[in-house]
Amino acid sequence: KLSGKTAVVTGSNSGIGLGVATEFARAGARVVLNSYTDSEEDHALARKLSEETGSEVLYIKADMSKGGECRQLIETAGACDILVNNAGIQHVAPVEDFPQEKWDAIIAINLSSSFHTIAAAIPMMKAAGWGRIVNIASAHGLTASPYKSAYVSAKHGIVGLTKTIALETAREDITCNAICPGYVMTPLVEAQIPDTMKQYGMEREEAIEKVILDRQPSKEFATVEEIGGVATFLCSDAARQITGTTISVDGGWTAL
Ligand code: NAD
Repeated sequence: KLSGKTAVVTGSNSGIGLGVATEFARAGARVVLNSYTDSEEDHALARKLSEETGSEVLYIKADMSKGGECRQLIETAGACDILVNNAGIQHVAPVEDFPQEKWDAIIAINLSSSFHTIAAAIPMMKAAGWGRIVNIASAHGLTASPYKSAYVSAKHGIVGLTKTIALETAREDITCNAICPGYVMTPLVEAQIPDTMKQYGMEREEAIEKVILDRQPSKEFATVEEIGGVATFLCSDAARQITGTTISVDGGWTAL
């Protein structure tokens, strides 16, 4: 379905990014994995995904906190038909205690990186006459939670950027949309479960349902495969007229 297309997925050596990259490789795309590290494991991951899917997969190191490296990632990829802006970090603290360097890092990685990658990719998409941009926002792009000022600001910013880019590309066969996940089961979330159990003195199931998934009415995590499936749908012919919008994958969180 996506053969002949190159997909660049930022922050894709774990979690949602890797899940999206895997679905794209399964659909036949040439896939570029990325993170800020350049380890043997990173390159081995690309080889493994390529062997499993039969698609070309390469790994390119670029630090999404640096604008120049964001733009260089797209140049080094050589082509960018599909761009998924996924790299992201979190920090939780009351605003008066929020470290300035954490604010700057979250705005840089979770928001500004997308400005840079999009700016570098759009000329390639225009030249190719086709392009799909998928920004991984969050339920926190649409609603807020206390103590996540930088994250919520960056994710709301991503939703605004998504709408703006959609308008700028509306007359081309280019779309720009955001996926807004609630809680997705990733290694990062899995790692929070034991601490939550200890903190609240709860068994695993209770800690998941009452604490972690407190705001997710389905009381189930989304999976990275499901996020990959939605991203693949946004690159399909059926989604050609879907642009400038958000798709929530949050088990009902934002319906509350
Ligand atoms: P994760 O920590 O597993 O993945 C984050 C990825 O970003 C990793 O590959 C990491 O290496 C990369 N990254 C971090 N800093 C980077 C940098 N400076 N340069 C390049 N890459 C960098 O977490 P995840 O849960 O898979 O999160 C992926 C995205 O999904 C984030 O934008 C996050 O905000 C969003 N999200 C996650 C959830 C969830 O429940 N897991 C929910 C909503 C939104």
